[in-house]
Amino acid sequence: MSKEWTTKKLIGAGEIARRVRELGAEINTHYGGEEVTVVMLLNGALYFTADLTRELTGKVKVEGLKVSSYHGGTNSTGKVDIDERSDLDLAGRHVLVVDDILDTGQTLATVTRALGQHSPRSLQTCVLLDKAVPRAEEFEADFVGFTIANQFVVGYGLDYQGYERNLPSIEVLEFVSPT
Ligand code: 5GP
Ligand code: MG
Repeated sequence: MSKEWTTKKLIGAGEIARRVRELGAEINTHYGGEEVTVVMLLNGALYFTADLTRELTGKVKVEGLKVSSYHGGTNSTGKVDIDERSDLDLAGRHVLVVDDILDTGQTLATVTRALGQHSPRSLQTCVLLDKAVPRAEEFEADFVGFTIANQFVVGYGLDYQGYERNLPSIEVLEFVSPT
């Protein structure tokens, strides 16, 4: 079956790779060799986390947390579901939450509130993309890859209805009108 959408390149794979290396260096400097527990928000942050964590030089644990705020379309539902894991041991640890994109702020605000209950030693956030939009919940990430305009993007882990995560670049989604 053919797709009802097309995509237009916004940030190429080479540019992403360069920025991810820089972010890795920033994060290494920030933690100064101390152990970090990276908590990636699934599924969107999968590709970004895979590349970013390979730039980290200290002792690193990688954990995943299943979170969903978008339920199919291209608009946030405002409701954030977290599959809380009872086996996550974050007490006394430096925790770095990694997500694909910061939009309304509700996902990271909700997740950091929940993980803050685990008494981490520190709790920081890193996003590949930051949408320049007014937040529904005041929230700024500690480490940001790129700031982008308010448009719906896919690729490098970001999906539309589960598709397009495997695109190597970040692309803007455009709907094809039926003819
Ligand atoms: P927030 O809770 O900050 O509104 O949204 C964060 C989540 O919404 C992201 O983790 C991502 O799953 C989804 N999201 C927000 N903007 C986009 C977008 O442009 N494209 C895609 N594919 N997902 C988005
Ligand atoms: Mg997400």
